This record gives sequence, structure tokens and C-alpha cells, in this order.
Amino acid sequence: MSMQEYMDKAEQYVLRTYNRFPVVLERGEGVHLYDTDGKRYLDFAAGIAVFALGYKNEAYNQALKDQIDKVIHTSNLYYNVPMARAAEKLAVASGMDKVFFTNSGTEAVEGAIKAARKYAWLKDGGTDHEIIAMKNSFHGRSLGALSVTGNTHYQEPFKPLIGGIRFADFNNLESVKAQVTDKTCAVILETVQGEGGIYPADPAFLQGLRELCDERDILLILDEIQCGMGRTGEWFAWQGYGVKPDVMTTAKALGCGVPVGAFVLNEKTAKASLVPGDHGTTYGGNPLACAAVNAVFDQYEKLGVLEHVRKITPYLEKRLDGLAEKSDYVAARRGKGLMQGLVIRGKTVGQVVNEALAEGLLVISAGSDVLRLVPPLVITEKDVDEMTEILEKCL
Ligand SMILES: *Cc1c(COP(=O)(O)O)cnc(C)c1O
Repeated sequence: MSMQEYMDKAEQYVLRTYNRFPVVLERGEGVHLYDTDGKRYLDFAAGIAVFALGYKNEAYNQALKDQIDKVIHTSNLYYNVPMARAAEKLAVASGMDKVFFTNSGTEAVEGAIKAARKYAWLKDGGTDHEIIAMKNSFHGRSLGALSVTGNTHYQEPFKPLIGGIRFADFNNLESVKAQVTDKTCAVILETVQGEGGIYPADPAFLQGLRELCDERDILLILDEIQCGMGRTGEWFAWQGYGVKPDVMTTAKALGCGVPVGAFVLNEKTAKASLVPGDHGTTYGGNPLACAAVNAVFDQYEKLGVLEHVRKITPYLEKRLDGLAEKSDYVAARRGKGLMQGLVIRGKTVGQVVNEALAEGLLVISAGSDVLRLVPPLVITEKDVDEMTEILEKCL
């Protein structure tokens, strides 16, 4: 079939909830993807910050094949080997205590919300607890996660959402304080806002939130689904801020393409929240997903991914700053590590993304006017140069 025929078939049978770019991707190698016509693309999107290791990492692929030959699924009624190891790795990397594996990011957020409500319920028996979330945030598409997503366009058609959610301004501690009541059980935010347009939290904001939460016994939930797993040069972005959440969510790069997420609790929260019967999942943490998580952690260590991200970040920032200086279409650059955004003016981001696609570069948008760069974490200076050259052409 031709590329057009695949696209036509997909449009005929797949529910149209996405405006897809006109390309059918077939295989990947390293930091490149190939379409069904054999055209090569330099990938600075990584399947939306997922494929951190690059494609066709042999050890990762082999680990999955080995696990497929052993067992793919057993359910959570029994213990399995990969899950025990994966939970340990996640706990050690985060310095937190208890892990619940999910199949996606949005489910990790659901779990975090349930843990926070249960924690508060055990304290006072109330059933009207509140959660403070941030404007311009993104936490997922299921109803709980959508309820804490500060984007009215995403929310409006699906109301009523879950109750007791109050919104504050990201990076504005006073605006959060203004929303605190006796019923507040949690504050949830992304350490670096992703979909909203790549906004890193200010250190003073995050530290202030931690103090506020400690004073009032409010749980601090950090959503690390996009910015975690090494993207900022730390396992989790909050580790670069000197604060620690009570609950953390992760997904995206956690399985590098195998659908898996998790919410992770500290001891205090784990001891006084979810117990058998409170929460469950048929697939969550299944042996195949957890074999992927283990292979990801093993490869990060073997390849020195965190060190590499720290090393290459200044180079990427320098090249992007150069681009911003040269091009009238770029108003600013912001970001952290390999999660960078260019604010575009004078053109739509969609235009730039399409032009880059034609030139063999995959990039994506964030917010209304931000070009988002979330490449595999194994990119080299040469890849950064190639990306910059293509973007220079487009901008
Ligand atoms: C992608 C994302 C989610 C949702 O994850 P899904 O796997 O798409 O459900 C939640 N929070 C953040 C910060 C994300 O970037």
C-alpha cells in the first residue's frame, strides 16, 4: 500500500480525535524514524518525550523479546519477577518508597488523586476535600486527570468533572495560598509544564509550596510524566530543586514506548492511604511492561544517560539561543535539559512543524505558540547541529 492508502484507511476506520501529520512512520533506528516511502526523519519529538533511548536499542529490544518468551501477563493477583525489580529501581531513583504501576500517565494521575483523597479521608472522615491545580497545566484526558488540567477548552464539553478542584497561577505562590482552605488535601503541578508551553517551575515557588504543604499537612503531588526520567539531567526534575514531593507521577519515558506509568508515594503517604481493595488494574505492572522499565533503567545506567543529558544541554541551549538571536520568528527560548521550547511569532507553530517535517525533522508544538523539542536523550552534538540547520531554514 502507498502512504496515502494507509492514511485513507486510517481515516476511514480510526476515530478522528487527532489531526495527524501526513506521514506513516514505519521503523526507527537511533534518533531517526523512517516512513513507508523510506524517507528519513531526525526525531526531536521522541513520540512525545517517550523514546528516550532512541530506536532499536539492542539490549532493550532483546529484554522485551526474552520476556515475551517467558510470560507477558499474569495479573496483579500474583507476584512477578520484573515488577519487583522495576519497583525497586523506581524507588531508588526517586528516593521514594512505594510504587503503583499503571498503563499510562493519566492513570498515574488518577491514582495520585485517589491516594490524596484517601489520605485526607483517613484524617478527618470528610468527603468534600479539595485539590489545588495550576492554570495552563496538563495531567491527562481521563475525567479525574482532566479535572485538574487547567485548560477550559479541554474540559468544557465533558462537564461535570470531579468536584473540589481550585486553580491557581503556576509560579505564583500567593495565588496558591489564596486557594488553600481547611479542605485542601493536595496541590498538584508539573515540575516543568509541558503541554502548556514548556514552563519550568521557579525554585522559590516549588520550595514555597513544599513549606506551605508541610505547614498544613497538604500532599504535594509532582507530575513528572513528561519532565521526569532523565529529561532534565536528573532522574526526576524535582531532584534539581532540593524539594521532594509526597506523591509523584511518571510515565512517558519510563517504558520507552511500552505503555507503562506509575505513581510513587513517600512513606508518610503510603502508610496512610491506599490499602487492598482501594485501587487496582488488570494490566498495570505486567511482566512485559516492567521488563521494559528494567531495561530502560539498565540502559540509562550503562549509557550514562543522565550525565549525557547534563553534558549536551548547554550545547543544545547555545544552538537554540543562536537561532533565537538570528530569527525574527523566534521570540524566546525556555526550558530545562532536553525539554526546550521556542516561542514562535509571525508564523503559526503548525506551519513551522509542517515545514520541518518536509525537511526531514520531527518537532511538535506546545501551548498555542511554542515549538517543543523533546528529543531522545541520546542525541549527539551532530544531531543538534542538523536540527538547528533545518530549523534555521524553516525560521
Ligand atoms: C502526557 C502527560 C500526561 C498524560 O499521559 P498519558 O500517558 O497520555 O495518559 C499527564 N501529565 C503530563 C505532564 C503529561 O505530559
